[in-house]
Amino acid sequence: MLEKKMRLFEQTQVSIKNLTREIVMRPQTDTDKAYHEAAHAVADTRFGCHPVKASIKPSEGTLGSVSSLDGWDDSETARNYVISCLAGYVTEIRLDSSNEQAARLGASRDFEMASKPLEQLNMDLQSGIAIAKEWVNRSENWKAIELVAQELLIHEELVGDEIETLVVIADGEATRETLASVRLIQRLNR
Ligand SMILES: [Zn+2]
Repeated sequence: MLEKKMRLFEQTQVSIKNLTREIVMRPQTDTDKAYHEAAHAVADTRFGCHPVKASIKPSEGTLGSVSSLDGWDDSETARNYVISCLAGYVTEIRLDSSNEQAARLGASRDFEMASKPLEQLNMDLQSGIAIAKEWVNRSENWKAIELVAQELLIHEELVGDEIETLVVIADGEATRETLASVRLIQRLNR
């Protein structure tokens, strides 16, 4: 009898736990993913590293589908590297702050990648997040992130040339026609 009660108690505990998890942690949406990946891509572009591609295809998830920064050699490039790693997480939270836990989970590899340059800069994760936040919130960067994210939602995948062109368009230095010709050239080269 007691054993039965105990089992029932345990089962209830488990379902409460699951329920709580469902309430506090909604799954990552395509929009979350698109903004996350767009932030990495825009950061890489701004820091002069040609992004390879950005993707929100389910098979690629959020794990490193944008990765073009391959290292750092001084404190400035280490700082850029940290921003690029943490920009995805920070952007997801700016989009929906109630999504912190899911964003954190999706960024576990980003946090891992930021840990070495952070160490070199004598900074903790919180300070790294703070500088990434400051960078993401600059209006020219946010504008570019939004534009790349919107395009990612339409096309699911963007290559480096498209990303770089979108950033230039966001800055007001190119038009949609430029993007169309970039895409035409890509198609011809395929
Ligand atoms: Zn990421």
